[in-house]
Amino acid sequence: MKTYIFQASIFFTLLFSFSSCSKKVYEINMIHESNSCVATMSKPKNVILMIGDGMGLSQITAGLIINNQQLNLEQFNNIGLHKSFSYDNLVTDSAAGATAFASGVKTYNGAIGVTPDTIAAKTLLEEAQDKGLETGLVVSSTIVHATPAAFIAHNRLRKNYEEIAVDVSNHTADVLIGGGKKFFDRRKDEQDLISKMESNGYEVKTFLDGDIQNLTLDPSKKILYLTADEDPLPVSQGRDYLVPATELALNRLNQSENGFFMMIEGSQIDWGGHANNSDYIVSEMIDFDHVIGKVLDFAKKDRNTLVVVTADHETGGYAILNGTTAEKIEPGFSSTYHSATMIPVFAYGPGSEDFRGIYQNTDINKKIKALMGW
Ligand code: MG
Ligand code: ZN
Repeated sequence: MKTYIFQASIFFTLLFSFSSCSKKVYEINMIHESNSCVATMSKPKNVILMIGDGMGLSQITAGLIINNQQLNLEQFNNIGLHKSFSYDNLVTDSAAGATAFASGVKTYNGAIGVTPDTIAAKTLLEEAQDKGLETGLVVSSTIVHATPAAFIAHNRLRKNYEEIAVDVSNHTADVLIGGGKKFFDRRKDEQDLISKMESNGYEVKTFLDGDIQNLTLDPSKKILYLTADEDPLPVSQGRDYLVPATELALNRLNQSENGFFMMIEGSQIDWGGHANNSDYIVSEMIDFDHVIGKVLDFAKKDRNTLVVVTADHETGGYAILNGTTAEKIEPGFSSTYHSATMIPVFAYGPGSEDFRGIYQNTDINKKIKALMGW
């Protein structure tokens, strides 16, 4: 009887402590490892980090208005805000902003995957590779542009595109999709990085080979698909690969038994902000939201994938002014550069509750690593 009461009290203590656990995992942990319930519940197999470059609340709201007051982003329940400032400026750039997510360090504007002392800082993508996960980058800028570069390269200056392309070519990421073919095959140093990557186990395809969804690919090889010679087009001028590229990447990476890490960027929301072009912002925002929808469909089926959607910073000091209608935003802009406003973070999946609250941009890196046990 005494033993029974003792066990019952443990039972109720556990029930109370781990009430957020699902029934199945809770029961397993009750029997075998009662103290690890939260950890077991929270460890995702896959992580998908989605960055809408320059995507502040006004950009999201404008997309929402023009898309009939409906966005896939509304499906997220765990929402926070991050403080986007960099090491040397209250207004970050995309290089420092992406380095904060990728490497967990505040660095100076312009820095790619390096600390303020220009020392290389290990990125989430590299950490994932070390742990045996597959990895991918899918972007609507060039693959050597600041945001993707900060996950796969280390350079003191974001503009060193040819050096960054060398870093990309030395990596072994499994899926790489973005523009910038000329940085690989028409370089000042005359290196042919495409041949180099082909001899390193990559199948390299480009926009010249056709649309990504129509390619016949060798599943045993890593894939580099270069979507444009330089910057990819805006979606309003016919760019339409971000959704099919994401689907291809998800199919590929999901073959991995150890899970995967992928970063997907809606790169050009930022460019619409720099251009003070509201229609550009809205069309890129809605395109990125379509990608978010595909990723959420995957994550909901998979049930083991953490999805985090955020931005590096806001661009344009964009405002939605009086006179706006359901068909047309009446925009205001206070800058052609970025602003310092706090940035929303949306999380879904195991561990997503950890992304509630207000915290540093670098904490997104730390939260992902803590959840993954890295
Ligand atoms: Mg970017
Ligand atoms: Zn920008």
